[in-house]
Amino acid sequence: MSESFDDRDGVIWFDGDMVPWREARLHVLTHGLHYASGVFEGERAYGGVIFKLTEHSERLAKSAETMGFELPLSVPEIDAACKEACAANDIVDGYVRPFAWRGSDMMGVSAQSNTIHMAIAAWPWPSYFSPEARSKGIRLKTAEWRRPSPETAPVHAKAAGLYMICTLSKHAVEAEGYDDALMLDWRGRVAESTGANIFFLFPDGKLHTPDPDCFLDGITRQTVIGLACGLGIEVVERIIMPDELGQASEVFLTGTAAEVTPVGAIDEHAYAPGKITSTLSEAYEAAVGKTPEKAVSAAE
Ligand code: PMP
Repeated sequence: MSESFDDRDGVIWFDGDMVPWREARLHVLTHGLHYASGVFEGERAYGGVIFKLTEHSERLAKSAETMGFELPLSVPEIDAACKEACAANDIVDGYVRPFAWRGSDMMGVSAQSNTIHMAIAAWPWPSYFSPEARSKGIRLKTAEWRRPSPETAPVHAKAAGLYMICTLSKHAVEAEGYDDALMLDWRGRVAESTGANIFFLFPDGKLHTPDPDCFLDGITRQTVIGLACGLGIEVVERIIMPDELGQASEVFLTGTAAEVTPVGAIDEHAYAPGKITSTLSEAYEAAVGKTPEKAVSAAE
């Protein structure tokens, strides 16, 4: 979709009102814009139902708390507002973006009494990576930026500022023809991509995924671990070092936007999208309700 995000039809839920899409504007002196004091969620609706909505609303509230502010809405109220934003825009299958930020009352590092604002936008958004890239497996390149330590940044919050290094990393590898960047953490361990978690099938026949001790323990990651367990596929959460990447036979990403996306290459290592990846991708599609005829209940 090529239309700009500030020039669309529809409405945006903005501080409790439905505002025409093009009029959902902020003042330029907004704390969230200057100092990244903002948090957000990324959700997907399938067949009119937002998958794991309450988990997302809870994470938004937790992210805000981590950033030192309280949301103006309770979790059930956020759930209701997300549904309203979808309904008002006739979104049946789409993406939902609730976000909250410190406003303009004070402009400086200290912003103790700033008003907290919230908005929710929803739009149709079919696939995060192109269908061609998905079918062959996306190509990743290791980024130069690393996920920071928990002493350096609020690493478990879905906070705007943490995406600065994601955009830098993704832009750098896209300029070289890759689809996304693989980010290591501050210790040089494999962490995640710029917007999704990562899993590896290793020769022991088990799925291995990094311990999420300094990045988001994604809702999709947790869902896929539950689905794998239900299918008898063992999952090992452990420290994974970059020199192990050559031993994997299948690699995939998980995320609300990415869903289950096969990875075809990381740096010089090539992988063929395989059986375990397609099994889990299908199980995920059934769990979210994309393929209702095969629906199974997702392990929480
Ligand atoms: N890591 C990062 C950096 C992300 O932006 C996301 C997407 N929210 C994820 C992981 C996956 O999280 P989830 O499965 O909850 O969407």
